[in-house]
Formats: sequence, structure tokens, C-alpha cells
Amino acid sequence: MNVDSFPDNPYLLLTPGPLSTTKTVKAAMLRDWCTWDDDYNSIVQEIRKELVSLAVNSVEKYTAVLMQGSGTFSVEATIGSAVPPGGKLLVLANGAYGDRIATIAKVLNIHLAVIDSGDTGPVNLEDLENKLAQDEDITHVAVVHTETTTGMLNPAEKIAGVVKKHNKVFILDAMSSFGGIPLNMEELGIDFLVSSANKCIQGVPGFGFVIAKRDAMEKIKGYARSLSLDLYSQWKTMEDQNGKWRFTSATHVVRAFRQALDELHEEGGIEARYRRYHENQITLVSGMKELGFKPLLPDEHHSPIITTFLSPDSKEYEFKRFYDELKKHGFVIYPGKVTRYECFRIGNIGEVYKEDINRLLEALKESMYWNKNI
Ligand SMILES: *Cc1c(COP(=O)(O)O)cnc(C)c1O
Repeated sequence: MNVDSFPDNPYLLLTPGPLSTTKTVKAAMLRDWCTWDDDYNSIVQEIRKELVSLAVNSVEKYTAVLMQGSGTFSVEATIGSAVPPGGKLLVLANGAYGDRIATIAKVLNIHLAVIDSGDTGPVNLEDLENKLAQDEDITHVAVVHTETTTGMLNPAEKIAGVVKKHNKVFILDAMSSFGGIPLNMEELGIDFLVSSANKCIQGVPGFGFVIAKRDAMEKIKGYARSLSLDLYSQWKTMEDQNGKWRFTSATHVVRAFRQALDELHEEGGIEARYRRYHENQITLVSGMKELGFKPLLPDEHHSPIITTFLSPDSKEYEFKRFYDELKKHGFVIYPGKVTRYECFRIGNIGEVYKEDINRLLEALKESMYWNKNI
């Protein structure tokens, strides 16, 4: 399809999802699909297969399931379906998304323990080791890979080492990292990995997905605490009925995701995408530092996904006005999510390149209304 005549987006989304997508991904949505027809279900099957092959080498030992809704629905489906009655979940939290996993467990009346290292604190592996040695009731451990609250990259590999040493089921919320940061589920021993359509694979919002060890998935039959968010039943239907969803699926979004996966391959796969995001983030941080902004986290804890900057120390500064100025220049940024600090966030995932970041830095200079000396 020739998409040149499609209108450009009025601004570039520098947000952690939904994010800026290509015109070709958007164009892929321009037709309707019948959900019980093979044409559609074979797309679902291809997607499931491809997700597995992005996550592991031994594809036969793993499987994938798609779930309607935003990413949180897939996290909730996983927590609510994987932990058996009488099981206990340990959550390693250092931000809003880790807290959200703990909240899901509370709402579902799942036995819960939390190690909270604060919004800016890295996961403490010693605390994890001690907790697992001490509390034998714990059956499952969940952690966020890239904590999108701050941009913190949690050391999945080191955490997995401790979790697997204690033989616990490991659940990784890789929502904002899968597809953008290389990771081998098998090497890490991850049992369930959760992500969604509208983050680093660069699709549009509407469904999430879970990649799991096949034998871990087979074990969870009947555990779900919800009808629609029953991960096992959703998986079993897709598995036995050749890609069929249990309830109405986001057909257009699924077709757009197929296109987004093709474009990930065209770019050179996850490694290439990681390099682009990394270059974006490095360019952003060094340019922002030159303009006098300070990142919240030290460089060594940073993911290449999103960066939190402290708000300028000026009485005249106000996020809303700064946001509006940048929007006039064609860029949309994100408010902060760390309550203890005045801050804002700039994401660099999606259809965003180094040239865009350089244009952003120019626009920023002109948007710093509180500092006319620059
Ligand atoms: C985006 C995100 C989610 C899911 O958020 P939704 O708004 O439900 O899509 C969960 N965890 C992390 C780390 C995220 O970045």
C-alpha cells in the first residue's frame, strides 16, 4: 500500500506506549477480518510462533498466548492464573508497575510478600536471597524488567539466578523492554514473560501477550480467579482451535501487530532495535545535560527506553507550560511518576530516531521559557 499520502501525525510521541508507529503499521488496519476464518486465525498463529522465537531458541518448549486489553490485563491474567490457591507471590518492587503487581495480588486475595526498594533504589539481591531462604511459603517471584516509572533497568539475569536457585516460578513484566532489549527467556529460566502490543514491538494498543514455558502453562489449569482473564483457558483455546480467541479479539490491532513484527525483522531484529533505542537515549541524555537538566537515576541503572529528568530548579517552571511549548514544536513528553521528586519523563522508543532526538533538543532550547539566557 502506498502510504505517502497518509497525513503525518501532528506530533511525535516521546512516551512509553502508546508510541509513534509507522504509517505502514497504521495502514495495515484498513480492512476487516472475520474472527472464525482461517485468514485471521493464521495471522494469530504466526504471531504466537514469532513471539516465541523472539524469546528463546528452543521454540518447542515454549508457547505464547495473546490477551485482550492493555498490558495490565495480561499482567493480571498471569498473576491471577499462575499462582495456585495456597501459593504465595513475592514481588520485587521499585516503582509504580511493581506496586501494581502487588496491588493485583491483593485484589485477588493472593498471599503476598513485597520487597520494596523505593522508586530510585535498585533491587537488593541479598534481601531476595534472604527472603527466599527464610519464607518457604513463597512459590512465585515477580519483578518488572524496565521500571517505566523511572527508566530503571532491573538486572533480570541476576534476579533470575537467585529465583531459580530456590526453584521458584519466575514471572517477568517485560512490558516496556520486550522487543527493545535482547533477553533470552530460556537462559534466564523465566517461566512467564508478559508484554503488550504497543511498546517495543511498535504496534498499536489493544492486546497484551504472555510467553511461557509450555509445561508451566500446562500446570495452571483451573487456577484463574477470573473468567475473562483466565490465561490457561485463553491459551488452551488458541492452542486447540488454531489461533481462535475465546471472546471478541482486537482484529485490526492484531493485523497491525503482524506488520510491526515484519518491520522489527526488517530493521534487523531486537539487537538492531536495541542499538537504535540506545543511541536515542545516549543522545538525549548528553544533550539534556548540556542544557542543564539532570537525570534522576545514575547512568549505570538506566534502560535505553525512557529517561526521567528532574524539573528545572526555577520558580517560573511549570510542567504544563513546558509541555505545551514542546507540543507546539511537534513533541509530546510525559509527566513524572515519582512522587518524591519534581520530574518529567522523555521516552525514546517507537518510530523515533537520533535525528528526531536532535530536533527535540533544538525544540527544547526554544521551549525553556524560564531560562531566556540559553
Ligand atoms: C506499560 C506498562 C504496563 C502496562 O500498562 P498498561 O497501561 O496497562 O498498558 C505494565 N508494566 C510496565 C513496566 C509498563 O511499562
